[in-house]
Amino acid sequence: MKFKSNYLQEVYDGLEKHYPEQKEFLEAVGEVLMSLEPVVAKNPKLEEDNVIGRLVEPERVILFRVPWIDDNGKVQVNRGYRVQFNSAIGPYKGGLRFHPTVNLSILKFLGFEQIFKNSLTGLPIGGGKGGSDFDPKGKSDREVMKFCQSFMTELAKHIGADTDVPAGDIGVGGREIGYLYGQYKRIRNEFTGVLTGKGLTYGGSLARTEATGFGLCYYTEEALKTLKNDSFKGKTVVISGSGNVAIYACQKATELGGKVITMSDSNGYVVAPNGIKLDVVKQIKEVERGRIKEYPARANDGSEYHEGCSGVWGTKADIYLPCATQNEIDGESAKKIVANGAIAVCEGSNMPSTPEAIEEYKKAGIMFGPAKAANAGGVATSALEMSQNSERLSWTFEEVDEKLQGIMKNIVHNSIDAAARYGCDGDLQIGANIAGFEKVANAMLAQGIAY
Ligand code: GLU
Repeated sequence: MKFKSNYLQEVYDGLEKHYPEQKEFLEAVGEVLMSLEPVVAKNPKLEEDNVIGRLVEPERVILFRVPWIDDNGKVQVNRGYRVQFNSAIGPYKGGLRFHPTVNLSILKFLGFEQIFKNSLTGLPIGGGKGGSDFDPKGKSDREVMKFCQSFMTELAKHIGADTDVPAGDIGVGGREIGYLYGQYKRIRNEFTGVLTGKGLTYGGSLARTEATGFGLCYYTEEALKTLKNDSFKGKTVVISGSGNVAIYACQKATELGGKVITMSDSNGYVVAPNGIKLDVVKQIKEVERGRIKEYPARANDGSEYHEGCSGVWGTKADIYLPCATQNEIDGESAKKIVANGAIAVCEGSNMPSTPEAIEEYKKAGIMFGPAKAANAGGVATSALEMSQNSERLSWTFEEVDEKLQGIMKNIVHNSIDAAARYGCDGDLQIGANIAGFEKVANAMLAQGIAY
């Protein structure tokens, strides 16, 4: 990776030398540092106090053994992690991912992204991420419970409502958060907002479940309006994934007048030319924990299932909302999106577009809403859950949803303003990186260097 600034080059090369195997982490750092070229050029203090060199190194990484007993009485062992990346502007905040692909590179990339995302929300939350290579797929409820309890037995030593507040991510939803919360309470004997995404009966916030997907659509709608004088109305929409983010993005995109024609999982995708029937998807995914393959027979709406994931990007649409996982759109898939005449790609999952894909969107003039801005609605609403827990009150759905809309609109405008200040008019990616960075960098500068 080549930078104009010698300082950025030095920081990046040093990181690459130390962590050559952490591909996803290096990709995430490279993407942010590229955007910071003009900021570093204008602000010599960043180099003098080595703010970037400090920013790319997590404050703390916790790695632990998670032993648990499966339904056959066999002792299983998984690896558990918590990356406490940056606490300059608030307690570490970010989800837990349970997926067999989880390793330190993935969690460091997610934790690094989370710093800027959380800063963009305008709320006082630092950046962190954690998880395990445990795969909840195919496990019984009891096995998931036992795993969560063992995971929390160690994690409880490192988190707290004012220290580090985990939440869900891939493989961690309401069920897992419930088991994790129960165990935390058992161990610590305190009822605090130590996790978000909790159930509504024990301190969860209304609209938290919907927040990432809804927020993604609020962001997209506002950015389309501001930059393209356009909207969801009358547009066809391709969504990948069929988890929590995808489901509520589908609902809101439809409410805003779009027609969502695809959804997918890690095996394949469905094309429904007349529009996805969301109640059928919800039944399959949320109630039965089934596969998207079952959709056509259940919906009986003329839809078709196709094996393989990347084919979904060949489906012609106006707006693309990747909501599955990292690096799901490579350069080739992005070329298909461009050839389909897309007007916008806004990211619901974290880092779904490879650097090559982003280059394709930009060459073609497609409006690109990067994940750390477009999917910040989830963690923003987590911060609202923390506020409600602290004041021991709960707000109405409408109150939370209204705040979420305001936050997403602000992110669009703050990104546009930051990009304009550095001569990159209309670039939502550079703007998000700069706006997210500025607040954290100022806080780090203000708080000094530890000797
Ligand atoms: N995992 C989500 C994210 O990527 C939410 C994190 C949270 O609510 O703390 O932002």
